[in-house]
Amino acid sequence: MKYCRFLFEDQVHYGKVDDRAGEPWIVDLTSAPEEDLAFRLAHGRATSWSFDFEPMPLNAAALLPPVTPSKIICVGRNYRDHAKELGNEAPAEPLLFFKPPSSLLKPGGVIRMPAASARVDFEGELALVIGRRASRLPPDAPWRTFIRGYTLANDVTARDLQKKDGQWTRAKGFDTFCPVGPLVSDELDPEAGLSIETRVNGELRQHGSTLDFIFSIPELLAYITSAITLEPGDLLLTGTPAGVGPLGAGDRVEVSIPGLGVLKNTVESATN
Ligand code: MG
Repeated sequence: MKYCRFLFEDQVHYGKVDDRAGEPWIVDLTSAPEEDLAFRLAHGRATSWSFDFEPMPLNAAALLPPVTPSKIICVGRNYRDHAKELGNEAPAEPLLFFKPPSSLLKPGGVIRMPAASARVDFEGELALVIGRRASRLPPDAPWRTFIRGYTLANDVTARDLQKKDGQWTRAKGFDTFCPVGPLVSDELDPEAGLSIETRVNGELRQHGSTLDFIFSIPELLAYITSAITLEPGDLLLTGTPAGVGPLGAGDRVEVSIPGLGVLKNTVESATN
């Protein structure tokens, strides 16, 4: 199943997404995942609605980030070519960092380049959405049963501040630095190889495959959950392939994987 989260008549809704003539459409409303307590309190465990929903193209909807995570965990340098392009060795163990939920940005939203940075980069990534609580998973755990689905993310990074600060909290954590969406799908298999691409103003800048991960998804989940309990709705950004580069005011950046649609955002300078 594929779903999105969107505003409709000033209310947050979840929508079931299907393909119509090759384009994603919101074909019906659907109930909320368990972690979205505000939605559940407002609607109960609604499976019927007080109005008739007319299907609409996904790109005509007022989309929101499709997830409401308690935390966003990211993996650095999980593609060998990307580690090399920034002059780093492939890590011996997964390199983890957080982005705060306050950095989430909706599909179509504006990435704000902070005045504190002179170099803001795109990083197109596959993101996993956790489906049930996961703690201390062994490497041979049935990991797919802990995954609700997959979505697209852009791990926007102030590259100069990443180097200057030494630790990455500020460089990775500015407001608007985590575009996510447009939908979540469980109809994909990263271990079969997903082709991920990033375009800036229509020009192809990154092209990688999830077959090139340094650490596999079960290895990442075992490593992360040995330290941190993952909750339903949490996001795991799996790293970016080679080709990262700077964004400028007025740019359009698009991350895509077949089956997950296209995550589109624009870029502006922060006004403050
Ligand atoms: Mg990244």
